[in-house]
Amino acid sequence: MAFSGIEATAPAAPTHGADDGIAEAVRVLLSGLGEDPAREGLVKTPDRVAKALRFLTSGYDRDVDSVVNDALFTVDYSEMVIVKDIDFYSLCEHHLLPFFGRCHVAYVPDGKVIGLSKLPRLVEVFSRRLQVQERLTSQIAETIAAKASPLGVAVVVEATHLCMAMRGVEKQNSRALTSAMHGVFRTDARTRMEFLNLLRPGGGGAVRRDVTEHATDAEHS
Ligand SMILES: [Zn+2]
Repeated sequence: MAFSGIEATAPAAPTHGADDGIAEAVRVLLSGLGEDPAREGLVKTPDRVAKALRFLTSGYDRDVDSVVNDALFTVDYSEMVIVKDIDFYSLCEHHLLPFFGRCHVAYVPDGKVIGLSKLPRLVEVFSRRLQVQERLTSQIAETIAAKASPLGVAVVVEATHLCMAMRGVEKQNSRALTSAMHGVFRTDARTRMEFLNLLRPGGGGAVRRDVTEHATDAEHS
């Protein structure tokens, strides 16, 4: 699966502020649910929800450039870099309910590497927004492709969606898998299989391996 056709540009960032109306909206929501927003247990809920939502969508305020730009290093080799099992939590934009799981990122550098610790931060920038899993996956991949111009980049996201699990739409334990493959991960089956094999349980953690001998087609698709 690939999602290169999906526009990876971030949607316009909503403005966040103390007087953004979220708390008032939650009061209306509580009333709409038949609750009494003035009762003891709920009286502070609108402010708590507003604060929580601002944090859970704080990725809108984060600048991708500031996360990545000071962590790009020039290197002289082309080895696969993999960071797997990056935990993330996001909110589905259709139901405002959480979806969460793990993200696996791999790329084959072409003269530039991104500091390893920046990859989980990049995942955070895009997951702390209202999202759909497919767009989250492609935004991570396309940002790495744009910033490091690697020979290839691959991102796999596996997630549980509470909008499915809690509403009983699908089996409670089903997970959704999405992937985005660019460059050698798309054009070279061996590189792609190596990456996917390493995602299996016991397949290793952050792994580097020389793939220069079959990294000939560097075109990003
Ligand atoms: Zn949903």
